[in-house]
Amino acid sequence: MMNPFSAIKNWVEKPLTASVGVDVDDLKHYYRIHGLDESAANDAVWTRGLPRFLDLFADCGIEATFYCVAEDVESDQNRTILRSLVKAGHEIANHTWHHPYALTRLSDDERLAEVKEGKERLEKAAECAVVGFRSPGYHTSKALQDDLKATGHLYDSSIFPCAPYYLAKSGVLAWMALKGLTSHSIQGSPRVLLAPRWPYKPSAEDPFKAASFDMSDDSDADETLLPQYPVSVAMGCPLIGTAFTALGATASCLAVTAGLHLSRHITLEFHGIDLLDLGDMDAGLGAVQPDTRVPFNKKRDIFKAVIDCIKSQAEVKRLDHIAQGL
Ligand SMILES: [Zn+2]
Repeated sequence: MMNPFSAIKNWVEKPLTASVGVDVDDLKHYYRIHGLDESAANDAVWTRGLPRFLDLFADCGIEATFYCVAEDVESDQNRTILRSLVKAGHEIANHTWHHPYALTRLSDDERLAEVKEGKERLEKAAECAVVGFRSPGYHTSKALQDDLKATGHLYDSSIFPCAPYYLAKSGVLAWMALKGLTSHSIQGSPRVLLAPRWPYKPSAEDPFKAASFDMSDDSDADETLLPQYPVSVAMGCPLIGTAFTALGATASCLAVTAGLHLSRHITLEFHGIDLLDLGDMDAGLGAVQPDTRVPFNKKRDIFKAVIDCIKSQAEVKRLDHIAQGL
């Protein structure tokens, strides 16, 4: 066993790294979360949001990870956009076949199909390997993790150990139930709040419990679940697009700097909708998604400042490259 002084020395000498991801959730999923009529949903996440993210990341000089839903890339239009992401050097990761929020409550066969078909269909459409996974709504379970391993995924980034988010979601779901509205979203296990805040290899029996923090040693692969890269939370602040929009550039830069130095690695999460505004969607959705009232150019400026701040301190890499030690 390594002595504690060597462990601390290794920890503080570890190079700082960061990864930036975008969950490509079509607008219809937001209508479903809020119990609205999804026939009003348009394709602005793909046709406007993704080109804006491509432009932002090119401007910042980084390669990122796009978590895509396989059913969205059946159209020629979206497949062309998907390939433009790959061509620009970005990673495509699996965000399931149909984005079911209740993925962990599906039957074994249905859950496996969401994971397997999601990966294979994205690989076919993008013409590249897909090895990363993020679960819709951040829900996971041992059974889901076993499916990911069995289908050739190399890492997972579904854990979001954020108490304010967890409590807010519980409140919204309870309020909607009182109003008689049906949300497709579900609440996951509160055990996620006890999960580590930095990359870890979960115990084979429990995705929320770390068996090891040594991500470079894969000799324990048989006794652990897939390497887990949680969506980062620094001092209670989630390192996600909506939080950066709410905080503004200066406070967001403080949060990512704290996260980097506390965790040595941070995983940032954006959503395709983060670079949309009221001009890109109907008023019904805009009314329930407050950050869409902020013009996308203003949000872009904040995100650019955050990424530049990280770049000045850490190496920003695709998560598949970090997971594979590339
Ligand atoms: Zn999603």
